[in-house]
Amino acid sequence: MNPATIHLTCEQCSRPVTGTTGAVRVYDDDLASAEAAHTAHAAAREAAVAILSPLRLDGAADEFLRPPAPARWQVEHDRCAPTASPAYVIPASHLGSTRDVLAASIALMAEPWIGRTDWTEFVRRHCLGPVPSPTEDEK
Ligand SMILES: [Zn+2]
Repeated sequence: MNPATIHLTCEQCSRPVTGTTGAVRVYDDDLASAEAAHTAHAAAREAAVAILSPLRLDGAADEFLRPPAPARWQVEHDRCAPTASPAYVIPASHLGSTRDVLAASIALMAEPWIGRTDWTEFVRRHCLGPVPSPTEDEK
């Protein structure tokens, strides 16, 4: 397998998504949920820091506040995609190689909401492959 080639698999039917058969999408509803979760997390963090700061425990806020879940980029055939409204669509034909993913990443960096999505994880999974778990490293 050429590491520069990206292999996309439909999350609905588990078959390969190639050429013009599908796309990678992030949906409006998921983005709105991620944005709301981010806002709630920021407010909770601010309140926690206000309580913990006099105790000199500012850093502890991040230890008990779980980070908000990001909106997921989903790989789907066009025929398998839900009818939900996508916020952003990248045709599979534009994500055929690691170079294509780099170009898409550069374009996405201009989007103010990109940090509320799991694009970093998508790139890692499709360009670098599975990351070994710490227990496997220790063997
Ligand atoms: Zn499919």
